[in-house]
Amino acid sequence: MLVVMDKMATPEQIDKVVEIIEARGMTARPIPGGDRVSIGILNNKGPVDQAIFMGLPGVKEAIPVTRPYKLVSREVKPEDTLVQVGDVIIGNGHLTLIAGPCAIESEEQAMTIAQNVKAAGAHLFRGGAFKPRTSPYTFQGLGEEGLKILAKVRDTLGLPVVTEVLDTETFDLVERYTDIRQIGTRNMQNYSLLKRAGQSQRPVLLKRGMSATLDEWFMAAEYIMSEGNTNVILCERGVRTFVRHSRNTLDLSAVPVIRRESHLPVIIDPSHAAGHRDQVIPLSRAAVAVGAHGLMVEVHHQPEFALSDGAQSLYPEQFHALCEYAKAVHALENPQQ
Ligand code: PEP
Ligand code: MN
Repeated sequence: MLVVMDKMATPEQIDKVVEIIEARGMTARPIPGGDRVSIGILNNKGPVDQAIFMGLPGVKEAIPVTRPYKLVSREVKPEDTLVQVGDVIIGNGHLTLIAGPCAIESEEQAMTIAQNVKAAGAHLFRGGAFKPRTSPYTFQGLGEEGLKILAKVRDTLGLPVVTEVLDTETFDLVERYTDIRQIGTRNMQNYSLLKRAGQSQRPVLLKRGMSATLDEWFMAAEYIMSEGNTNVILCERGVRTFVRHSRNTLDLSAVPVIRRESHLPVIIDPSHAAGHRDQVIPLSRAAVAVGAHGLMVEVHHQPEFALSDGAQSLYPEQFHALCEYAKAVHALENPQQ
């Protein structure tokens, strides 16, 4: 149920509705909109009677929410969410470019790549410090040392940084050093991690599980939002199929559906979808054309020596070309900007 307040509703009238909801043992979540506040009702055990709210001062209407995900849904918040990180805005009308290596390997490596991607037009720098590797015998990341390098990149170059958080134990540590916490494909249904990410207002980049349906993905985002964090960015990174020509299959058809169903920004990671660098630029162009709000791309200055995902990492000059293409496609799709 969503209680939509009048444009002129006073803070006292809003508080009264919240009080009535909470007195019934449910959770009230005020959602500021363009010109009015709505109040989402969570944790109801069964259907909520609309009559409770109709006629209360300041209440315009009470509408049932039909989707199982509520805070994620456009039914509850029709306006697009814009997530702000420093001066960077992610969401409708903006094209956000995130780039960097799969893993932080050394300060020199990170700084070299960051300088290159910044010069090419990247808005944020990415790099893993804690790596979720399929094999326990491969490079697992530099851990806290990698986080310190990320913080140094941000402080030196002014690029906000994105990195993956693998578990609740290291959450505080990762949060201390970085701007956006990424929850990876293998952790999309790690509910304790999702809840922890929800207990802060700092932005979360939630990757789609490699075999997750859109409903499962939205419910994962709902876990974060139901704890109070509204700054969630969805990231499609390819799903597991039977094909052999790419590492995963990039599900671009998810983008228009997400944009219809949810107000959250959605970005595309073509690198983990493709697995091969020659597919990354064409997929990026398609991603922007289909309406993604941004791209997250792996770039390495010496991919042949990369400690992880070298085959899918672009050379800096390829990333430069990608930025030019992506900006041109975005301008075509958004002529008013
Ligand atoms: C990554 O972005 O480095 C990563 C491990 O991605 P994914 O969770 O999509 O595999
Ligand atoms: Mn990678």
